[in-house]
Amino acid sequence: MQITEHLHALKIPFQIPISPGKVIDREVYSYIVFGNKITLIDSAVAGAETIIFDYLRQNGRDPQEIAMVILTHSHPDHIGSVKAIKEATNCQIAACSTEKDWIEDTELQFAERPVPGFRTLVGGPVTVDRLLVDKETVSLGQGIDCQVMYTPGHSRGSLSLVFNHEQTIITGDALPLPNDLPIYEDLVASIESIRRLQKTKNIKSLLSSWEDPLHGSALIAQRMNDSILYLRKIHETVVQGQSQGLEDLMDLCRYVVMAMGLPPLAVNHLVARSFAANLAVREHKNLTDWQSVD
Ligand SMILES: [Zn+2]
Repeated sequence: MQITEHLHALKIPFQIPISPGKVIDREVYSYIVFGNKITLIDSAVAGAETIIFDYLRQNGRDPQEIAMVILTHSHPDHIGSVKAIKEATNCQIAACSTEKDWIEDTELQFAERPVPGFRTLVGGPVTVDRLLVDKETVSLGQGIDCQVMYTPGHSRGSLSLVFNHEQTIITGDALPLPNDLPIYEDLVASIESIRRLQKTKNIKSLLSSWEDPLHGSALIAQRMNDSILYLRKIHETVVQGQSQGLEDLMDLCRYVVMAMGLPPLAVNHLVARSFAANLAVREHKNLTDWQSVD
């Protein structure tokens, strides 16, 4: 799907095997920048390289033209096919320094964050060739460039990318999608990242990994605000659950998921881990404490 003159969105369906015979259907977006060379933003899951390469060919381009893959962060549905893409094209891999170890050592990531079906979703590790820093401008050829914005919280080194000429921002997983699985490591950082995204000027298209492209400044502003409200509601419910004596994290997770009407499959260790991040800042009952941004 073409978004702007140079930016295309590619939705890639996949399944997370959670137990024998049981899978969760998910989908994730990768983004493609077509210039005199090709840049990918995220690679989706293992095997997705076939879908990506087919899409490039359908648009009259050769997968060998891929010069760089920018990884918004290291989670399986973003790095899954990057090994195959690197092996096929010898492209450069770019990411934030704090995501480097989980991209270069996927077994370390699995040990520290055991996502169900990890080895099915991730094709293997790759070396990160280029470390991206906050506010850096990355040239993607033919006068196309993007600016790096640190938006941690969902993960330690989550990045967003601002395409000023295209009036478009790619946010990875930085914006929690209301009523979807809440996944974050640092709640305060997550809120501060959304506050930073809110300050980005002249954005007409919002491209996240979790939902279809959003167009129009009013819709985008609403979406960012809804993400903060969702995090606030979760936090209030987690604090409420704990004040009722739910000390066990999985019991607390079950309580929050039911109280908020989230899908039952949200009762899992990854979501519970997010709620542990809420407990780490439970003294911040008044969310106005989190509204200051650098
Ligand atoms: Zn993620």
